[in-house]
Amino acid sequence: MNDLIARDERHIWHPFTQHKTECSPLALDHAKGAVLYGLEGEEILDLISSWWTITHGHSHPKINQAISEQAEKMSHVMFSGFTHEPAVTLASSLTSRLGEDLNRVFFSDNGSTAVEVALKTAYQYWQNLGQETRKSFIAFEGGYHGDTVGAMSVGKGSGFFSLYDDLLCDVHLLPYAATWLGDETCEQREQKALDAFISCIEGGGDKIAALIIEPLIQGAGGMKMCSPAFIQKLTEIAREHDILVIFDEVMVGFGRTGSLFAHEQCGVVPDLICLSKGLTAGTLPMSLTIARDKIFDVFLGQDFSKALAHGHSFTGNPLACAVANCSLALFEEEATLERIGEIRKSHEKFATFLLDHPKVTRPRVTGSILAFDLADAGDGYKSDASLQLRDHYLAKGFNIRPLGNCIYLLPPYCIEDAQLSQAYEGLLAGLDIL
Ligand SMILES: *Cc1c(COP(=O)(O)O)cnc(C)c1O
Repeated sequence: MNDLIARDERHIWHPFTQHKTECSPLALDHAKGAVLYGLEGEEILDLISSWWTITHGHSHPKINQAISEQAEKMSHVMFSGFTHEPAVTLASSLTSRLGEDLNRVFFSDNGSTAVEVALKTAYQYWQNLGQETRKSFIAFEGGYHGDTVGAMSVGKGSGFFSLYDDLLCDVHLLPYAATWLGDETCEQREQKALDAFISCIEGGGDKIAALIIEPLIQGAGGMKMCSPAFIQKLTEIAREHDILVIFDEVMVGFGRTGSLFAHEQCGVVPDLICLSKGLTAGTLPMSLTIARDKIFDVFLGQDFSKALAHGHSFTGNPLACAVANCSLALFEEEATLERIGEIRKSHEKFATFLLDHPKVTRPRVTGSILAFDLADAGDGYKSDASLQLRDHYLAKGFNIRPLGNCIYLLPPYCIEDAQLSQAYEGLLAGLDIL
């Protein structure tokens, strides 16, 4: 065991980690349901679904079965010139749930690449149509879309990437209108953000290829929630000016907000949607960028020049597709959305209680996600309080990782009521150390 950590520390470069100051990683042995088990018998309640990926629970027997059955048949297919049943089934069953003409599914392998594909598609759509001025994008303050160069460009409002400024492409950032329990000034902030959008369009709307937003919740930006009406109005304004609308549902998709997809609650359908994380129930890397028919049609031509020049080695991986199909079936079989409704009710009760807590501000709930900010805490991704709390919670058996001064719960849907009560108690106890 000590040897494992020593070898890790000698050779591994972990993501989003300052190796000089952070504690050694904890070695996990296995995981089941909502619990992670360490090599030395530690039990940790996974309250952030392992980076927002796990939906039905760790090591779900049906998901495991789907992987092994597909592995017996075929684990890899080159996806240009070949196809296979799990991918076709996934594409047809997902598009039948998405509405309007969101019918054309492009496969890649993580959330960032799903965003890259959406950006390239939007950009090339206008090039193919001969409207060559439409080359820039609109994104939001606090928005996050992944770590590759295009995704960093539209996610520069997250503040993580200022070092790379010179590498990034042309993006206009708009204010985002967050809201929370007991918020009385939301409408004013929404109006301000919409006005900013309109004046941005007046300054050159014909130069904008697309708008990209995380509908209902900005995840990495600090679990900032907005009203469905805000998303709806933004989309309508974009439509009036021929700006394509990209919804990044990489985090919010697959039930996190209470519906299978967040946009179902907003009454609008985007032109392109990005899905990953919960897509494979959190077990295998895969992502999708789904486009409307009218977009796909513009890429047709007699030679390759109008085609989309994109593809990855593991595009349309059959193991991942089999898992995604199984996961969709589990949403029905286990009445997952109903369970999410119960988690939401329980969160709402706890959030109402938090309204009066002296160390808490802006408590908020959407679907399975509960969040609040620390009152009077330092800002920034690595504020002292957030690191201190993260280590404290882990020592107490909770995987809770604050985002700057935002503390949140994003549990897998299999979490039991007793585990949820433990989580609330543990969460509160942690605030006492501040
Ligand atoms: C996590 C995330 C991404 C990036 O996904 P990766 O798989 O980490 O590349 C993109 N957009 C949103 C909204 C996310 O939460």
